[in-house]
Amino acid sequence: MATCLCNHPQDTDEIQHILEVARDWALTNGMVFKPDASSAGQSQAQCAPFSLFPSVVPKQIFQQAVTCMKDFNTLMYRVAQDHDFLERALKSVIKVDPFVRGLWDIYNQVREEGMAQPISLDLFRNDFMMNTSDKKNITSAGIPPSSALQLRQIEFNTIAASFGGLIGAATHLHRYTLDLAGKPYTSSEMPDNDPARGFAAGMVKAWELYGNPDAVILFLVSGIESNIIDQRWLEFKVHQQNSKIRVIRGTLLDVHAKGSLSDDKKFILDKSEVAVVYLRTGYGEDSYTSDKEWSARLMMERSRAVKCPTVRSQLSGCKKVQQELARSGAVEGFVEDPKAVKSIRDTFAGLYSLDMGTEGDDAVKLAISSPEKYVLKPQREGGGHNIYGEEMKKLLEEMGSTKEREKFILMERIFPLPEKNYLIKSGIPLTLVDTVSEMGIYGVHIGDGDKEHLNNQCGHMLRTKMEGTDEGGIVVGFAVLDTPYIVDV
Ligand code: ADP
Ligand code: MG
Repeated sequence: MATCLCNHPQDTDEIQHILEVARDWALTNGMVFKPDASSAGQSQAQCAPFSLFPSVVPKQIFQQAVTCMKDFNTLMYRVAQDHDFLERALKSVIKVDPFVRGLWDIYNQVREEGMAQPISLDLFRNDFMMNTSDKKNITSAGIPPSSALQLRQIEFNTIAASFGGLIGAATHLHRYTLDLAGKPYTSSEMPDNDPARGFAAGMVKAWELYGNPDAVILFLVSGIESNIIDQRWLEFKVHQQNSKIRVIRGTLLDVHAKGSLSDDKKFILDKSEVAVVYLRTGYGEDSYTSDKEWSARLMMERSRAVKCPTVRSQLSGCKKVQQELARSGAVEGFVEDPKAVKSIRDTFAGLYSLDMGTEGDDAVKLAISSPEKYVLKPQREGGGHNIYGEEMKKLLEEMGSTKEREKFILMERIFPLPEKNYLIKSGIPLTLVDTVSEMGIYGVHIGDGDKEHLNNQCGHMLRTKMEGTDEGGIVVGFAVLDTPYIVDV
């Protein structure tokens, strides 16, 4: 039986010592934020928030999440290719949500004129929580039996999936803190993890498929990039895999000011031909403050550059698409193998449409009658947008009978098992607190419409927050980086 981590060291001096070492470790190994960095990166580094110890994840749950990832990659790639499905899924949202409509318009315009580049690169992260239906019947490993735990998908990220860089360093950090605390572990309990290597391999392959050795990879970033080092890890790993490839960085405004399309739709930025555009921005309204950013996005989408992601892949990551995929028969329309369909479906939580009509009316009633059991989600990314509990109830009472509700979907609320850990965030006193975790599995995919050139699962991450905190973002300050301590229960 694996070691139980619930029994963390409590001695203040011992913990303080481990904390100091861990901070220095994080600083010297690039597990850092640069809070006020410009897109070019100039500012002081500070530790990214992290948990002092890893969090227990049962082996069966971990394996389930890892094993289904390649099937999810294929599913989501095919969803993005299916115009009729996307149109049906998003038609209500497009009418009421100007941001999604803006993306839809770009997608549609480029579809009608003909896509110049059939190849697309996707760097995905599939996020899960472990729902716990029985918190009383705890095994000697400190967690309930596997039968009382269910892996549930929270969302599927198709754009700017982050922390593949910083999290690789977290595994080594946690092995060290466990050693300092005298907690034994094996390599299968604390496995190697380097998502950035897999992501970089996807970029290198996409660059090769583009076929011009002089072309560059553009990292499209926002004006302020506190998470720049996470991006640098990818840049450095691209260089390790092929030192001939030049990575450049730029914003949507840079693309607008200095970018152009040649007659044969090559995307030229500052005299460089761009082979691959990797978006770490552009997933929220605040990335598009004027027509300039929208026209830059359109120009790139029209170009021959390989996009990561395409606008249609970004659209396929909408919560509305997730909800439509949960309908009976929907996954089956994309994936033939019944085993693959099952492995995908087994992770779905309850998802409900709020479109006008009796189905949506019933969902509104359900949420109002038991607000503690549901989450209201708009079509946004990056954390801080979901609505819970009494606030959700009030909002649904106000807008529940109008088309406004079509901006959202309703999702069953997941209740993960709390676990004790120390969360290291600047300005927060060091105490042992009850935490819950969300697990992300990274996937890389390249397709050209006919052929899958690459389909891999390439690593994992944990994000851990104090129990009772509704949201889960790290950059926005709710959660910390964490790794799984995988126990066989
Ligand atoms: P975003 O695209 O903003 O990241 P998510 O769907 O991932 O949106 O939700 C943000 C956070 O809210 C998650 O990281 C998780 O902590 C919490 N959350 C989302 N859905 C649920 C749910 N069904 N049950 C419990 N918590 C949830
Ligand atoms: Mg999320």
